[in-house]
Amino acid sequence: MIETIDVAHCTGCGICDLVCPADVIHMERFSHESEVPDLAQHKLLPVIKFREHCITCFSCEIFCPETIVDVHPVVRNRPRPW
Ligand code: SF4
Ligand code: SF4
Repeated sequence: MIETIDVAHCTGCGICDLVCPADVIHMERFSHESEVPDLAQHKLLPVIKFREHCITCFSCEIFCPETIVDVHPVVRNRPRPW
């Protein structure tokens, strides 16, 4: 199951969101402080939105160019169809 994304080192490329087959990761807009308040920058960063839907496929960890996504091999809280 996906554990963490080190967003402090994230470039916001969105690959983790694109490759996730379970729609666990969503890119959301964050504001960044600027020396000039009116020029505060907005950046899209990944959020682990539906961790319980993770199927532990490791795609996000494998394809992240910054290697900042941590997926643990143990599958937890996985929803069951029964
Ligand atoms: S391990 Fe797979 S299912 Fe889980 S968040 Fe990453 S890409 Fe999505
Ligand atoms: S793939 Fe890596 S660098 Fe790109 S948005 Fe996801 S966590 Fe950030």
